[in-house]
Amino acid sequence: TSAKLTLLGLGAMGSALATAWLAADYDITVWNRTASRAEPLRTLGAQVADTAADAVAANDLVVACLLDDASVRSTLDGVDLTGKDLINLTTGTPGSGRELAACATARGARYVDGGIMAVPPMIGVPDSGAYVFYSGSAAAFEAHRDALAVGAGTKFVGEDPGFAALYDVALLSAMTGMFAGVSHAFALVRKENIDPREFAGLVSGWITAMSGYAHGIAEHLASGDYTTGVTSNLAMMVEGNATMLRTAHEQGVSPELLEPFMRLMRQRVDDGHGDEDTTGVIDLLLSRR
Ligand code: NDP
Repeated sequence: TSAKLTLLGLGAMGSALATAWLAADYDITVWNRTASRAEPLRTLGAQVADTAADAVAANDLVVACLLDDASVRSTLDGVDLTGKDLINLTTGTPGSGRELAACATARGARYVDGGIMAVPPMIGVPDSGAYVFYSGSAAAFEAHRDALAVGAGTKFVGEDPGFAALYDVALLSAMTGMFAGVSHAFALVRKENIDPREFAGLVSGWITAMSGYAHGIAEHLASGDYTTGVTSNLAMMVEGNATMLRTAHEQGVSPELLEPFMRLMRQRVDDGHGDEDTTGVIDLLLSRR
């Protein structure tokens, strides 16, 4: 491991990472397409490269934190990657991670993809809960483990370079469903004389209390039997759905965020699985595309 690295991309996330490395006394070389964004980091002690090629040439460890897959490709176009360890923290898909890995490897680099589970204010803050999924070259990850652990925790999830993005996007997808449910809940109470701040505490507490749902699903997926230990069966839940939809109607709230999931639950009951929980919805999702 060395205390030297190059960082490409100084947006909100890149700048937060750069600041954390500088605070930990790392010797960093930075590059950003819009040069002015590098000035605050120069003041903090970063070397500022004029071109991406110069930045990459400066160190063996090269971290990219750019907007998307396309900006990574265009930034590295024509840049000599021989002998480099490229750690790509830019959010992408599993497929784009695998493609970039193949491309970087063909150009003589070791490739590690990363998926950042944090927002910039959490970076470099002890116990913030920030971490990054990594996958790809285990050797490159091991070689730079200390440097990568400076701004956030590290979780290596395998040598498939698509896995970091897969885990990242899977968790973001779970979050999106949660955001949808919370939005619907606030819509239900919006027109009443209910203090949204007080209500938020109740919503947050309830979501936390229900978070064991993931473990219940996992047990059923592992055993293949979706009926054991079911405390709320699907037939009962589908009746509950009707109450939720009627309440939405009474409160003048569109049911559009709830309906797609409820349709799948109903389908499972109609298919004869009323004694299970919602695990079977996963099978439906996989069979309907
Ligand atoms: P910003 O929009 O703040 O910054 C985007 C960066 O990408 C800038 O440095 C920008 O340069 C650069 N860029 C955009 N297009 C190009 C291009 N064509 N060529 C070269 N550089 C380009 O985004 P963030 O820093 O917030 O995010 C960076 C990555 O981190 C993204 O993939 C994002 O998904 C991921 N991430 C961000 C999180 C967040 O909460 N912010 C959370 C988790 C992951 P310029 O200054 O010239 O525009």
